[in-house]
Amino acid sequence: MPLFLKILARNLLQGPATEPFPYQEATTPQRLRGRVELNADLCVGCGICRHVCPGGAIRIEPDAERAGYSFSIWHNTCALCASCRHFCPTGAISLSTDWHSAHRQTEKYSHAAHYYVPYLRCADCGAPLRLLPPALAARLYAHSPVDMARIIKLCPNCRQIAAASREGERYGTGGTGK
Ligand code: SF4
Ligand code: SF4
Repeated sequence: MPLFLKILARNLLQGPATEPFPYQEATTPQRLRGRVELNADLCVGCGICRHVCPGGAIRIEPDAERAGYSFSIWHNTCALCASCRHFCPTGAISLSTDWHSAHRQTEKYSHAAHYYVPYLRCADCGAPLRLLPPALAARLYAHSPVDMARIIKLCPNCRQIAAASREGERYGTGGTGK
């Protein structure tokens, strides 16, 4: 039997070698870079993700009425490069494995995710702030004798004062007891 007939017969017996998408869901690799998502609980509003985003896909704007900020991800211009995830200091932004992003051009402005992130108040001075995520605080103050439960509730200025005060107590050069 000619070789091509052998191959034809084998292929007919084995069936299709490719995914039957769109008639059936395709396999999604676990490390696929899909739709970008925000975990608003971990976001501190530093804006690094917006700064590094080559597609201009991230917008962060103050929301004075609700005392917080809005965070938008425009999937239409996202290049799925993962720079935002790489540079985010808190792990708040990530790429899901959702690759179902095909859409009509007329839908490009609705092809976005919008989040609202509320401000809290600094436990010392009352300034608006986002809580420092505990995992980030543990890294930042790994060698400092600060009260971790308290330091995460302080604004950056009060954190500096509290950390310096604890260092002063440790080395006997004074401290404010904060
Ligand atoms: S994956 Fe890249 S293009 Fe998409 S939002 Fe993040 S930084 Fe921007
Ligand atoms: S997602 Fe990360 S990098 Fe972007 S503003 Fe929030 S904390 Fe900063």
